[in-house]
Amino acid sequence: MSRVVVLGGAESGVGAAVLAKVKGFDVFLSDKGQIKEQYAQELRKWDIPFEEGQHTEDLILNADEVVKSPGIPGTVPMVQKIREKGIRVVSEIEFASRYDSAKKICITGSNGKTTTTSLIYYLLQNAGLNVGLGGNIGKSYAYQVATEHFDYYVLEISSFQLDDIYDFRPDIAIITNITPDHLDRYDHKMENYVAAKFNITKNLTRDDCFIFDSDDEITVGHLSKIVLRCKMLPFSQEKELEQGAFLKDDRIVLRYDKQETDVFLEELALGGKHNIYNSMAAALAAKVTGIENDVIRKSLSTFQPIEHRLEPVLSIKDVLYINDSKATNVDSAWYALECQKRPVVWIVGGTDKGNDYSVLNNLVREKVKAIVCLGVDNSKIHAAFDGMVDKITDASSAKEAVEKASAFADAGDVVLLSPCCASFDLFKNYEDRGEQFKAAVRSL
Ligand code: ADP
Repeated sequence: MSRVVVLGGAESGVGAAVLAKVKGFDVFLSDKGQIKEQYAQELRKWDIPFEEGQHTEDLILNADEVVKSPGIPGTVPMVQKIREKGIRVVSEIEFASRYDSAKKICITGSNGKTTTTSLIYYLLQNAGLNVGLGGNIGKSYAYQVATEHFDYYVLEISSFQLDDIYDFRPDIAIITNITPDHLDRYDHKMENYVAAKFNITKNLTRDDCFIFDSDDEITVGHLSKIVLRCKMLPFSQEKELEQGAFLKDDRIVLRYDKQETDVFLEELALGGKHNIYNSMAAALAAKVTGIENDVIRKSLSTFQPIEHRLEPVLSIKDVLYINDSKATNVDSAWYALECQKRPVVWIVGGTDKGNDYSVLNNLVREKVKAIVCLGVDNSKIHAAFDGMVDKITDASSAKEAVEKASAFADAGDVVLLSPCCASFDLFKNYEDRGEQFKAAVRSL
């Protein structure tokens, strides 16, 4: 019996271990850190041996294949030893796709993955298709392949999940956009990060389809250096396209397979320029899947905003509080500021990932009246914006930030939490930051 060893005992690793078990492998899971109780229980339920707090070489280096969770960098010593022994290391999606014949729509990119993935899932559900949602959202892909049967999957895929793929092939691949993020995992080289994202296209065949943002210089620049044999479907807010999605007057036009459909911008459920891009990408994926135009139009107009992404919380004394805690990089915060129509009191800060804030200067001058810095070390934010806005202050909890922001705000203003940064200095994760922000707003 072949032996599969899984490194990492969270959503993706446990899903891969369960699938390996179901497929009759001799499975072992190893995690150098602590495994959460819910995952330990799942492993016990499936009778899968595991260890935590260590990697025992004798139990790992006898594997025929290793499935590595995306959270573990390829540079850690254990992974290097595995490779030195000539054992193949694959990602969870690579492993799972061997046992799955469903059609796969896979979404990667720097921003907009979750929104676009959820939109496409909603579109396919509304069209009555038997569709699963996975990858970075909800249950792992591998776990669902082990326990469910779907005709379609819509999968959100991070660049880390694409690192160790060989034969994984989506039917429709989407790159929403590419802006600097997570460069620490890519030797601080943008080209490595771009190449990792483009791994999603590497096995596309003539029958498959690649949907991409043709306004995005980085994406287009990389495309000019590689050859793809699949169908190309760009989307753009800047130019009319022969095939793809583009803007004309007050509408999104979808041009595909010699047909043309449109959706009025004012009908879109999600506001902001970034969500026009996301809606275009999702609508193109739906068109390629053969979904009727009226289902596309209706779905784009009834989709509910997702938590922590420009989520309106409450209006108090005519000040609107918006939770955009998921804006963990500069580009996402740029779009959050860009779509504000009212003066903004901006809550920003956290763990800085090497941000260059200067791209926000024009928007901050134009729209932001006051800043509340919410982080342990706010020095880079002060250096970037001191003197650019009338008022700037610091806070070290969501409650303090909301109270200070509300004191700065007048009727007609917006208080926007769109932090540009990761959350780990003061919060468990971005969800925790968003929850604490909303709780603080509700108790004002
Ligand atoms: P991801 O899953 O890639 O992190 P999300 O859909 O969760 O993307 O959105 C993350 C953040 O980026 C939110 O603040 C959201 O408002 C913003 N955002 C969403 N779509 C885009 C886009 N196409 N371009 C830039 N920012 C976006």
